[in-house]
Amino acid sequence: MKTAWIRDAQRCAKGLLHRFGVCDPTHIVVEPFAVRLGIEIVEVRLDGAAAQLVLNGKRAIIMVSDRITDPAARRFSIAHELGHFMLGHPSRPPAELCTPFRHATGHATERDYEAEANAFAAELLMPAVLLQRACEISPVDLAVPRTIARRYEVSILASTIRFAELASERCAAVFSAAGKVKWVAPSPTFTYAIGRGRRVDRASLAWDYFARGDIADEPQAVPADAWLDTSAEVDIVEHSICSRELGTVLTMLWIPERVAPKLGEI
Ligand SMILES: [Zn+2]
Repeated sequence: MKTAWIRDAQRCAKGLLHRFGVCDPTHIVVEPFAVRLGIEIVEVRLDGAAAQLVLNGKRAIIMVSDRITDPAARRFSIAHELGHFMLGHPSRPPAELCTPFRHATGHATERDYEAEANAFAAELLMPAVLLQRACEISPVDLAVPRTIARRYEVSILASTIRFAELASERCAAVFSAAGKVKWVAPSPTFTYAIGRGRRVDRASLAWDYFARGDIADEPQAVPADAWLDTSAEVDIVEHSICSRELGTVLTMLWIPERVAPKLGEI
């Protein structure tokens, strides 16, 4: 559930996009944005964090870890720190590290600076105004998130979460590791609960990776109860891909319009 703070963070990013005249993905250049905001970017050795905003009197510095070699991760980290800066978050001691990609888990009433910075970064790097139409499509699979990742220079995780957020269809991004669900990012119309910590079901495609080390990279029909707590004997659509390097699976689930009435509200 989106809090008012998250919406404010997105609104702030939209304001910056407008101010910098962004109307094409190639206009989204986070380092020149930082310079225009009077922020210095320096590469340093950072243990346990990708980047950190340091406020020192009137000076603002974004320290970026020299260990980040992936341009998409670097872009997201800088955008995340720009979020902390633009949203006026308090400067924190170095022991409190930033956590890009952590999905919001807080209650709607709690303020979550990390979730706000991530929402800001997602809006800045993948503006709704440029992406909305591409996300209002059917059928749903990982094809559009892949295109977004390429065109907007973001990771497939970031683009898949963003796609679900803007999607008009009932769909959800699900991230699994060690055979268990780590987080779920549902579309606004996906009202079905998939609990964190849920075991990846044998009937799912994601299970193939944890059992056999491989997945067929294509959308396929799977029984709804492979992912949802339902007794309805209907199929939903799953497209899963794995990262062998990280031992994780990213899944896009899609509940087609004709299937939804049979599932009811779970
Ligand atoms: Zn942070």
